[in-house]
Amino acid sequence: MKKKLYTVVMIWMFIIGVSIYWNIISIKSNQDALVLQTAKTIFDQMVITRQWNSSHNGVYVKITDQTKPNIYLKDSQRDLECDGILLTKINPAFMTRQISELTNKKRGIQFHVAGLNPLRPENGPDVWEKNVLERFSESGSIEKGEFLSEGNDTYFRYMKGLKAEQSCLKCHLEKGYKLDDVLGGISIKIFNPPKAQIFPVILGHLIIGIVGIFIIIFSGFKLIDAYKIINHQATFDALTSIPNRRYFNDRILMEVKRSRRLDRPFSVIMADIDNFKNYNDCYGHDKGDKALISVANTIKKTLRRPSDFCARYGGEEFIIIMPETDKNGAIHLARQLIENIQNLNIKHKRSDVQNMLTLSLGVATETKLSPRYEKILKKADKALYKAKANGKNRYEFFT
Ligand code: GH3
Ligand code: MG
Ligand code: MG
Repeated sequence: MKKKLYTVVMIWMFIIGVSIYWNIISIKSNQDALVLQTAKTIFDQMVITRQWNSSHNGVYVKITDQTKPNIYLKDSQRDLECDGILLTKINPAFMTRQISELTNKKRGIQFHVAGLNPLRPENGPDVWEKNVLERFSESGSIEKGEFLSEGNDTYFRYMKGLKAEQSCLKCHLEKGYKLDDVLGGISIKIFNPPKAQIFPVILGHLIIGIVGIFIIIFSGFKLIDAYKIINHQATFDALTSIPNRRYFNDRILMEVKRSRRLDRPFSVIMADIDNFKNYNDCYGHDKGDKALISVANTIKKTLRRPSDFCARYGGEEFIIIMPETDKNGAIHLARQLIENIQNLNIKHKRSDVQNMLTLSLGVATETKLSPRYEKILKKADKALYKAKANGKNRYEFFT
């Protein structure tokens, strides 16, 4: 029973462990997906801005110290003067670069336009970007995202390729690019991406796990106690606390099988209290119960061998089985039983034997047991009948 209880506890702990693992995995993957989605959104936003710029064939802005004419832009109308103000054309590539420089001043997110064969040297790739771009050209896949760390810093890097559009070819044609070739990509770096909060998951599971274990153990022990009580009630006689007839039926079956296997003699004694009806009538049922308890205890104590077994067979009848016991051994025990009951000295003035409580016994022994054990019980019963007929307070051996 206890072993089963511990198995249930182990299963419970296993379920909790699997649940912790599964939850951590799913929280981490959700978190990763969120960071990836953030990077994708930034990229998409940048692409839309570039498309807006491209749809206007570039936009003109005032020339300042920060915004000088784009020397890589091949356009006859790159610089204009309008009402005395000098303007220069910003194409998508230059715009992306300018926005990236603004963004990079703030810590948190950085992006960079990079190509393997850039017009502008600053657009040359770093080692990671170079690897990714090379793989882009090999595999045709144009997206890559991964978590990296540098010292205590962790960051998420994402890069997606940019394909050459018609407007790009104006400048990139000279580098040998064609429409839809991957010119390069925008790489995005998200510093210290939010980490999956696994501590609350572990704590929550630990609490549920421990509470669960307490409940299992508490209710398990209650069940074990209830099982013991029910089992005891089902196998032991409520009045005398010795085994009942049901338990006896199971036990004799087992012992008969064992004796037959070992080819050993087997003895049975059937015992019946003499004139017990009169005893009840004379002293009352309560005293009768007490006498029954004393007789049961005396029978139990008289048995010496661990394999000897007694049970309450009926009202004031008891049965004793003695595996591996021959006729002499059984008769010896019968004599002792008669003597020990007499030594109890329970007064019985309405006994027709003596003025004390006595026992009659029927003894039977089989050296070659038949599998039908009812036979030996019948023999013991017949011997008991004979003992009663011969004057009670005695044993008779079935012959
Ligand atoms: P005999 O010597 O021939 O065995 O006569 P007896 O009176 O002992 O036998 P009988 O079968 O006539 O009566 C048995 C009595 O045992 C009747 C019943 O009141 C009593 N008895 C059976 N079970 C219990 C019990 O649990 N408690 C009490 N107090 N008496 C019981
Ligand atoms: Mg009887
Ligand atoms: Mg009787």
